[in-house]
Amino acid sequence: MTLAFQTINRLRAFPPRMTEFTQRFWRGLATGHFETTRCDDCGRLTFPPKPFCPHCWSHKIAWVPLSGRGKLYSQTVVHAAPAVFQDEVPYRVGIVDLDEGLRIATRMLADVEPKLDIAVEIVVLNYRDGLLFAARPL
Ligand SMILES: [Zn+2]
Repeated sequence: MTLAFQTINRLRAFPPRMTEFTQRFWRGLATGHFETTRCDDCGRLTFPPKPFCPHCWSHKIAWVPLSGRGKLYSQTVVHAAPAVFQDEVPYRVGIVDLDEGLRIATRMLADVEPKLDIAVEIVVLNYRDGLLFAARPL
């Protein structure tokens, strides 16, 4: 399953730091794929993807696809933002429980306050200078 794309006609306020390791995540996102890493020793998933396992410290990790689907666990609206996000207030941030069992924090796109526990999907945000992702109600 590939992710939907949404065009955002502005620059990213705080572009993510890219590393050689995370390039694979961003290349995948560019083709609508949401991936992370799983530990080959203990089997646990991690997000964001990491070159080691934060649970057992193993360096034997593998890339695995995520569905990009989950449930909204919590959300809030940010009015008092860090300076770099000042032009975007108010904006919504959600805690999403992905179907694979990962709990992630992400920007939440919704015009009205979403109910908790609703189904959400990850969407690729196509900014003028690169990509980000967010969740939105399904
Ligand atoms: Zn592990």
